[in-house]
Amino acid sequence: MQHDNSHDAGRPSGDAVPVEALPTSPSKAAAVVADGRRNIFDLDRTSLEDFFEQELGEKRFRAHQVMKWIHHRHVTEFTDMTDLGKVLRAKLEERAVIHAPQVLFDKASTDGTHKWLLGMDAKNAIETVYIPDKGRGTLCVSSQVGCALNCQFCSTATQGFNRNLSTAEIIGQVWVAARHLGNVPHQQRRLTNVVMMGMGEPLANFDNVVRAMSIMRDDLGYGLANKRVTLSTAGMVPMIDRLGEESDVSLAVSLHAANDELRTELVPLNRKYPIAELMDACVRYALRKRGTSVTFEYTLMKGVNDQPEHARELVRLMREFDRRVQMKDAAKVNLIPFNPFPGTRFERPDDVAIRAFQKQLNNAGMIAPVRRTRGDDIDAACGQLKGQVTDRTRRQAAFREQLRKTGLHTTGPGAGDAAA
Ligand code: SF4
Repeated sequence: MQHDNSHDAGRPSGDAVPVEALPTSPSKAAAVVADGRRNIFDLDRTSLEDFFEQELGEKRFRAHQVMKWIHHRHVTEFTDMTDLGKVLRAKLEERAVIHAPQVLFDKASTDGTHKWLLGMDAKNAIETVYIPDKGRGTLCVSSQVGCALNCQFCSTATQGFNRNLSTAEIIGQVWVAARHLGNVPHQQRRLTNVVMMGMGEPLANFDNVVRAMSIMRDDLGYGLANKRVTLSTAGMVPMIDRLGEESDVSLAVSLHAANDELRTELVPLNRKYPIAELMDACVRYALRKRGTSVTFEYTLMKGVNDQPEHARELVRLMREFDRRVQMKDAAKVNLIPFNPFPGTRFERPDDVAIRAFQKQLNNAGMIAPVRRTRGDDIDAACGQLKGQVTDRTRRQAAFREQLRKTGLHTTGPGAGDAAA
């Protein structure tokens, strides 16, 4: 999820395209299901080595050659992998496929931001956004189609939850962007950071997300340093601990309020895991390794959480975190002006109010950047990641009905997305 109304905190997106209306070609994914071949994109280094050794009877290092072909050279046909013998290539053809998400369309913004609409199956598509900025290139990646957490300011929540993405569908988003950008790890680095802040709550799809993040950080994959891969959660406390045990990436938390009453209203998950428990988990995460900080995303909503008392509460909470972690600036705050989407009851504060809130934090000695809106001309700004989903929960239908009654209208399937 992206939990900052960076996830996909919505704003009307004019290009909502029903998946049914988009061009599709026979899906290789269907072939995988039908004929039982493995999709190599689903396998990280260890599982691919195991596949070579146990299922193909080959040496484990062959897995390394295949990973380089796929993730460094963006090759998806075994016949093009010229340093593998003919017999092995034929064996691979028989037992495996390399199936990347289908690019349904892509759009470039005048500011360099790039957005892809990727088909995940016949009925589901998600968006992936690349944001270049002063020597870095950040890719915002989704972990689920829709989201079940129902954060009140998030347009993804209005779509309901459809399904988890597979490892292949998560790493496939990175592959599509890397291929488009001509990214070569350690040589031609266009893709320097990945944030799991697109659609969905990543910790609710733990195994697939952790495996995909391991490929992102592997030298045979995308070679990103641990701290350059960020997972953003709405606060699934037990899974934060598990993440600390099994992975080593940067943690971001969608906070949005520093008192339980307000946070529960904005992020219903807070009822289950209130702020004190969430902060305890963040402290444990930060204490695993000296020098680890945690980012707290705070979406500013007019008259809701942007008042001086909210800033004071936030400062108190962040200072307490620094004290417990025994590190200055262990807590980093990102301020995200809310991106309105049709039907939402929330509004973006004006610039004066945003600056006043930020100043209050700065005066307390905290660094709290305000996230700039990017890719506005292609509806790719934070909070606008849009996926077209089959709404099995009917939540979106209910939402639309509610809008109809109030005389408001949505722009199409998934009227916008808010990031948690
Ligand atoms: S509902 Fe919450 S957790 Fe889910 S995508 Fe939206 S902001 Fe993220």
